[in-house]
Amino acid sequence: MNSIEIFDTTLRDGEQSPGANLNSKEKLQIAYALKELGVDVIEAGFPISSEEDYNAVKDIAKKVRGVGICGLSRTIKKDIDRCYEAVKYSDRPRIHAFIATSPIHIKEKLKLSPLEVIDITKDSVAYAKSLCPEVQFCLEDATRTEYNFMTEVIKTAILSGANIINIPDTVGYAVPLEIRKRIKYIFHSLGELIEEKNVKISVHCHNDLGNAVANSLEGIKCGASQVECTINGIGERAGNASLEEVVMNLVTRKDYYKTKINVNTKLLYPTSVLVSDLTGLLVQRNKAIVGKNAFAHEAGIHQAGVIACRGTYEIMNSEEVGWKGDSLILGKHSGKGAVRNILITHGINVEDSKIDSIVETVKRLGAEKKYLDHSQILELAKT
Ligand SMILES: [Zn+2]
Repeated sequence: MNSIEIFDTTLRDGEQSPGANLNSKEKLQIAYALKELGVDVIEAGFPISSEEDYNAVKDIAKKVRGVGICGLSRTIKKDIDRCYEAVKYSDRPRIHAFIATSPIHIKEKLKLSPLEVIDITKDSVAYAKSLCPEVQFCLEDATRTEYNFMTEVIKTAILSGANIINIPDTVGYAVPLEIRKRIKYIFHSLGELIEEKNVKISVHCHNDLGNAVANSLEGIKCGASQVECTINGIGERAGNASLEEVVMNLVTRKDYYKTKINVNTKLLYPTSVLVSDLTGLLVQRNKAIVGKNAFAHEAGIHQAGVIACRGTYEIMNSEEVGWKGDSLILGKHSGKGAVRNILITHGINVEDSKIDSIVETVKRLGAEKKYLDHSQILELAKT
């Protein structure tokens, strides 16, 4: 079993979501919840970006103990200084410095030569390391970076003191097979150095094509031992890999991934609700793991199956993720079995003809897109 560290970036990448904006108090509240959830590292913000973000990261570093607190930084001395000033109060501070390495970013955005990128990597990592024992280095747009240049940058960062190397799919362009090839290539070329220096490889995937979770899991399968994700998958544009989906894949398919994580899965749903409430970003109904419909069954055949044996249509227990809601939804596709089951659960015994009339009402309202909850069914049984 390989240990996988969960690096949560809800408060940094997630907070960069268009439409989300958290104040310092709300950020602190989420940081406490993430600590309870059992994530290994919290990326609390980008300290140089604003006075408010700097203060929020500092406050979290001071108050939320027993978990890594990380800040993002460009590979610029004043950014690194500002980042360290904020995270240094943590009992496990981390600086996360990044520079782009793909040809398009180097040429069009940074207007540098590849050699200059190597020099900046060397100097910035060494400088960050002189301040902070844990340094994470990120090759922005890694998945569009030429293989040999990528390994050259990684080698430089490791030799300058980086403990964690982040390989992000910044623009959400990669497919799982490409992630597989890239991560395997890194271990194939630099495996000895990675092992000797005890370096972690991290994956950070965006969801522009809906591949963020699949790509992250593929990275883990190929040896990445840190995965970066956000609650509800919030983040820049289409978002990041969703923490709850990554975690429940690793838990539910332990037989395949063979990994260990520290997350208390029962807190996934409450944490999702908290983040949705504070950011104002709603969770889609059919979202895996935490959506309102994630464990709900409406079709009569499915309901009958679940009543007989949950394993017929459920691969996870809703209690395992702390999901709250009615698992049997009554609508136009529901049948007698579900209605009878709800009544029996509440100790109510009625005649078959009564159940028939309740089912008729349920189906009639269901056709008008109205759904009855369990208390309304109990009311109908009394009439
Ligand atoms: Zn990102």
